[in-house]
Amino acid sequence: MPEPNYAIELTPPDIEPYRSGNTGIDYVTTFDSGIAGPHVLVTALTHGNEICGAIALDRFFRAGLRPRQGKLTLAFDNAAAYGNFDPRVPTASRFVDEDFNRLWSPATLDGARQSTELARARELRAVVDAADFLLDIHSMQYATAPLMLAGTLERSVALARQVGIPELIMCDAGHAAGPRMRDYGGFGDPASSQTALLIESGQHWERRAADVGTDVMLRFLVVLGALREDDAEPLAGPDFHSRPNQRIIQVTEAVTITGERFEFVEDYRGLEVVPRKGTLIGRDDGREVRTPYDNCVLIMPSRRLAKGQTAVRLGRYAE
Ligand SMILES: [Zn+2]
Repeated sequence: MPEPNYAIELTPPDIEPYRSGNTGIDYVTTFDSGIAGPHVLVTALTHGNEICGAIALDRFFRAGLRPRQGKLTLAFDNAAAYGNFDPRVPTASRFVDEDFNRLWSPATLDGARQSTELARARELRAVVDAADFLLDIHSMQYATAPLMLAGTLERSVALARQVGIPELIMCDAGHAAGPRMRDYGGFGDPASSQTALLIESGQHWERRAADVGTDVMLRFLVVLGALREDDAEPLAGPDFHSRPNQRIIQVTEAVTITGERFEFVEDYRGLEVVPRKGTLIGRDDGREVRTPYDNCVLIMPSRRLAKGQTAVRLGRYAE
């Protein structure tokens, strides 16, 4: 398959000014309004090459905004990987040793294994534990419509609907390779009230991804009472005032690669709807991967086609 060659429209901001923060943890800053209210956490650079989130946080800091109630924590997660960003090989800085967003189980965090990302996740664990609400800002390999990843819990879907953008809300259980931060602890527990969302803002390098990430962050903060709408207005982009008729994609399964060689039969980019059940979409060491039902939606097909990783997620529009 040809590599799509997207222009790098975004400039990675200098996050060095945010290193010292005020929490004792590098690149983590907490603003306390002094007024009762939820503790809201917004994170960027969970994947070091997904710069739209760093831009959103940088815009927030530069605007001098502060929470109206409760606490607001802003964190640049994988600053080490981000520091390796090179526009000539822009995908290389996704992580240093391993995917930061597959480490979020107590067994892994408490385990003996060491890596750059595990050290950072262990550092950030208490920050994630302390948050009532989490928004984790990401971007995608292919230029498709933005997706709000709400997980499987009803309260997260309800929050995604309150935020109101983007149009598409995806409900999925994550990856076989390991749990994401947004699914960790109370955020994945039906009995908890901690609520997390993950926004896939668009293609990694497109200008629009920074605007979507920023608008979703602002709407998230307004919904949670951390900002008033007029506080957010100076940073608002094209989607801030939009009220799309949101649609839910229910993910039914993730296609996890079991073989040494996986290939798609077509150059899928994501959000294709395959009309017929049983349509061949890929081969995993020759094992045929076929769609399990009619009108199957292909979600975020990956170009990192390695054993144990998710090749694509399959879902359908909930009507
Ligand atoms: Zn990501």
